[in-house]
Amino acid sequence: MAVPRNRTSNARKNSRRSHHAKKPKNAMTCSNCKGKRLSHTVCPHCGYYAGRSIAGDKK
Ligand SMILES: [Zn+2]
Repeated sequence: MAVPRNRTSNARKNSRRSHHAKKPKNAMTCSNCKGKRLSHTVCPHCGYYAGRSIAGDKK
């Protein structure tokens, strides 16, 4: 197994990790309540998915 010959410097390590930042999730607007929600998920505000109420309809 390959073993590193030299210690990786802080600058080289940080430079390598410069691409590791998290990107913001792609938020969609809910078709029911116009709130922000992630695509392919139940809306956290009104509990709707694909035009139907999945959760939170016990009122
Ligand atoms: Zn909604």
